[in-house]
Amino acid sequence: MAQLINGKEISAKVKESVKTETKEFIEKTGVVPGLAVILVGDDPASKIYVGNKKKACAEVGFNSFEHILPESTEQGELLDLIEKLNHDPSVHGILCQLPLPKHIDERAIINAISPKKDVDAFHPANVGKIMIGDYDFLPCTPAGVMELIHSTGVSVGGKKCAVIGRSNIVGKPMAMLLLHENGTVTICHSKTKDLEKECREADILVAAVGRAKLIKGDMIKEGAVVIDVGMNRDENGKLCGDVDFSEAEKRASYITPVPGGVGPMTIAMLMKNTLTAAKLSLKG
Ligand code: NAD
Repeated sequence: MAQLINGKEISAKVKESVKTETKEFIEKTGVVPGLAVILVGDDPASKIYVGNKKKACAEVGFNSFEHILPESTEQGELLDLIEKLNHDPSVHGILCQLPLPKHIDERAIINAISPKKDVDAFHPANVGKIMIGDYDFLPCTPAGVMELIHSTGVSVGGKKCAVIGRSNIVGKPMAMLLLHENGTVTICHSKTKDLEKECREADILVAAVGRAKLIKGDMIKEGAVVIDVGMNRDENGKLCGDVDFSEAEKRASYITPVPGGVGPMTIAMLMKNTLTAAKLSLKG
């Protein structure tokens, strides 16, 4: 039976260390790290995420600035707000909650955020830096996954890793981080011919698809580390991941639950990035 990777506990430790470092940073510099979160529209899930981010800021001692805009907000208005925040010295990190309404070009918004305040690490300048392994920020979810893998004591070096999903925010950077730690990485996606085979060969499997229980128990290699990024609702409306947990835990060595696995880590890593951004701001 797999050992559970407790994302709640591990994220609490990350936040505790950010809190301690923040206190020291404020004492030394007088600067209070500030995170601006923009939400356009009233998607219920996004509202919950934004609320959780605000709560985490309070926990670690940051200022948080919420900008809740109506669904009808024009792209130009949003760009103006970002420009203002880019120049606001009390704001060190800017996060625009995705997805945005269809009439707004997500890429244009991401590109408008100053790379120095891009705590999501979605700006092309930061994506490029991650690619070459010389970065200030790592994207929060993949960075959180790496922390979870490290917590198991299993080293990535030389291991076969399968990342299921190739999105710009999870799958692709995830593969890159595993590669940086010398994993042999396969990226699977909706056009992958034999997903079962690719999964079954993986010592470390990261599922980031968004399909409830797509990864069945018999697709897991005996003893694999299984990280489930997916956030879905099952047939009863209950929150579940991309991995069929009850089957998979019989074969994996370590496994994350949903909820309580990757989700809390994402927010903890966002706090870490915001503190980094505040430190960077003093370097000019
Ligand atoms: P996305 O929709 O952008 O990407 C999904 C990926 O899955 C695509 O690359 C697609 O090719 C692949 N895919 C789709 N069907 C497939 C199939 N049958 N077989 C193999 N691959 C398939 O999604 P995303 O933004 O990367 O998010 C993925 C999941 O992770 C979602 O459930 C999302 O809610 C969750 N998520 C969780 C967190 C967190 O903090 N826990 C953060 C981000 C995303």
